[in-house]
Amino acid sequence: MSRVYNFSAGPAVLPEEVLREAAEEMMDYKGSGMSVMEMSHRSKVYDTIIKEAEADLRELMNIPDHYKVLFLQGGASQQFAMIPMNLMKNKKAAYIVTGQWAKKAFQEGKLYGEAVKVASSEDETFSYIPDCSNLDIPEDADYVYICENNTIYGTKYKKLPDTKGHTLVADVSSCFLSEPVDVSEYGIIYGGVQKNIGPAGVVIVIIREDLITEDTLPGTPTMLKYKTHADAESLYNTPPAYGIYICGKVFKWIKKMGGLAVMKQRNEEKAKILYDFLDQSRMFKGTVRKEDRSLMNVPFITGDQELDAKFVKEAEAAGFVNLKGHRTVGGMRASIYNAMPKEGVEKLVAFMKKFEEEN
Ligand SMILES: *Cc1c(COP(=O)(O)O)cnc(C)c1O
Repeated sequence: MSRVYNFSAGPAVLPEEVLREAAEEMMDYKGSGMSVMEMSHRSKVYDTIIKEAEADLRELMNIPDHYKVLFLQGGASQQFAMIPMNLMKNKKAAYIVTGQWAKKAFQEGKLYGEAVKVASSEDETFSYIPDCSNLDIPEDADYVYICENNTIYGTKYKKLPDTKGHTLVADVSSCFLSEPVDVSEYGIIYGGVQKNIGPAGVVIVIIREDLITEDTLPGTPTMLKYKTHADAESLYNTPPAYGIYICGKVFKWIKKMGGLAVMKQRNEEKAKILYDFLDQSRMFKGTVRKEDRSLMNVPFITGDQELDAKFVKEAEAAGFVNLKGHRTVGGMRASIYNAMPKEGVEKLVAFMKKFEEEN
């Protein structure tokens, strides 16, 4: 067996311990005589799996009792529609556009009502987070929408926007469980798990109970109502059962590591190694305004496309894979999620140093 250092933005690296455990349990999950993949989602065994996963997530994030945790499908992208369908009572919402994912959500929002762009960083290729301390938010906006960590551009809000009393909705796909959060500051926190938690196919929605109502936009499908899934405790229909099981294992792994405060510390240490190198390199440079740098996704360039391509190719041959930047921005991007060991980042930096000396 040979494992690479996988810097993919998603689906992404998972803790080896979790993968090993899943492998051990593949044929016979805890004496059930079957794999979790083969199990009824209505069985007692599975009920324990999903309930434990929720309980562990609640503990990790310190989720208040008046928030529901939903395990859904459709990816983060389906939430771009589900959010307005369920929340746009006044048919108006404010969007802060800090990258492609936020922009997609904004455009989807326009299908259901008046989506107002209240701030954007598109003027400088989304390389920064706009000042959100005094935004012109319409009085009757149903919510303020952000993408908290911009996976493609490598920026992160270090301070949440002043929503002026409006409900905050945040896509945290690429920073989920990377550091402690105060859930009570949000109306909805959601994310696809394939970035920092588990396998593709699960999206977790943490939603304040008062936002879960029957009063959705006309024509909202049953499957796209939060109420449907909240009432059925994520078992209205067959959930992404195996994916949830792996997420549960990752929650336990994070708990064992010491929780979100320890994750943050580890992530800061890892990111510092890479950013410190970028800041002194004569060949490589980061593309994001320093104050807004993400701990999870680190984009960088050499300034020469051919050299970028050579680097990506040689890195891959050396066992550092998926370093190519997003197809829309070019250059390189190292995603260094929770499961990326510090050693992976140290070795990558050593490889970059060597590449710099040789080229
Ligand atoms: C990857 C990503 C998405 C899209 O996720 P899907 O599950 O593929 O729909 C949305 N938002 C952010 C921040 C992402 O990183």
